[in-house]
Amino acid sequence: MERVQCVVIGAGVVGLALARTLARAGREVVLLESEDRIGTGISSRNSEVVHAGIYYPAGSLKARSCVAGNRLLYAFCEAHGVAHGRLGKLIVAADGQLEALRDLRSRAAANGVILEWLEGSEARHLEPELRCAAALHSPTTGIVDSHGLMRALRLDAEAHGATVVLRSPVIGGQVRPEGIELRVGGEEPMPILAERVFNAAGLGAQTVTRAITGVPPGSIPPQFLSKGNYYGLSGPAPFSHLVYPIPSQGALGVHLTLDLGGQARFGPDVEWIDHENYDVDPRRADSFYAEVRKYWPGLPDGSLQPAYAGIRPKLHGPSETAPDFLIQTEAVHGVPGLVNLYGIESPGLTASLALAEEVATRAGVLPAATR
Ligand SMILES: Cc1cc2nc3c(=O)[nH]c(=O)nc-3n(C[C@H](O)[C@H](O)[C@H](O)COP(=O)(O)OP(=O)(O)OC[C@H]3O[C@@H](n4cnc5c(N)ncnc54)[C@H](O)[C@@H]3O)c2cc1C
Repeated sequence: MERVQCVVIGAGVVGLALARTLARAGREVVLLESEDRIGTGISSRNSEVVHAGIYYPAGSLKARSCVAGNRLLYAFCEAHGVAHGRLGKLIVAADGQLEALRDLRSRAAANGVILEWLEGSEARHLEPELRCAAALHSPTTGIVDSHGLMRALRLDAEAHGATVVLRSPVIGGQVRPEGIELRVGGEEPMPILAERVFNAAGLGAQTVTRAITGVPPGSIPPQFLSKGNYYGLSGPAPFSHLVYPIPSQGALGVHLTLDLGGQARFGPDVEWIDHENYDVDPRRADSFYAEVRKYWPGLPDGSLQPAYAGIRPKLHGPSETAPDFLIQTEAVHGVPGLVNLYGIESPGLTASLALAEEVATRAGVLPAATR
């Protein structure tokens, strides 16, 4: 049976960042991916926004890894030629929402993120088509080519000795005294014995853990699926910044993001589902028009077209508050060498490099001082 020091399960942005960090720390790393390409999961179906770290509770892993990840991500993109743009973001408030806007500014400040307050006229100076009473400007929010990022992470991981193995789903395993034995399916099924296993399988994370005999089932959190639908704007983009309304009920509201080609899209919305499906219902766009016109009265009738959807790996149902990212080590489940990552929803793309350092540190691969 093949023996390796570290197996990472899942070649999304988090697994790739983790494989790179482990390889750079001198570990022998095999990254197993079930699909025939890297990055076909959650990492290929998101807004590609480099978040600043505004909304998350102070001290939470989401807040810390987003703020640190934002800096690490821009530096990585610049060093590795990954396309990105520091477009900046405006969070806009109507009359009656100014208190909420102030609260948001304080929440961001608690995370070390400084936002600039703009009166309505100042915001319209930046974006003439915008209607708002006031806005917050976030200069460190931007966009990134997520596929370019994942390719660059893979290349750097491989340059440091990591091996990426595609078409290799982890279908089961067994905790043994000498390590964790994984059963890998696919065209060339094989067992692998690993000293450490990092489960970064995204929507498949709970399924992977359940298939490893010896992991207490009670340690595996439930999974809920929250689909986010996007609608593309036909015609030119009205704004050069990303534009978000004040968040409500745990969602960011119907916001406008831009891709690196300058094309605008609205979303993602929130649709709780029972099974993975990526169909986008054109009728859901109907409710977008009234929401968007609160800050962009010029949105033409019939201009929103179904684009794509992504699915958030939630750890809670519709009525509960969003929990933090969950990193489980031996201290929680009692299995030496096993680290599970659950609930890596937004801002997981932004946070990926910082999360990789956090996980490697908690696993004892990186010394705490390097954080
Ligand atoms: C609608 C939406 C919008 C978002 N917008 C943003 C944003 O703008 N900015 C931001 O920072 N974050 C955003 N996010 C969050 C971000 O996209 C995710 O946090 C991140 O992509 C998660 O990456 P991952 O590597 O954990 O998961 P994934 O990308 O899903 O990777 C997991 C991989 O594991 C593989 N896998 C699964 N099971 C197995 C198995 N048994 N064996 C082997 N491989 C397996 C899968 O094929 C997949 O490739 C958004 C998320 C959603 C859903």
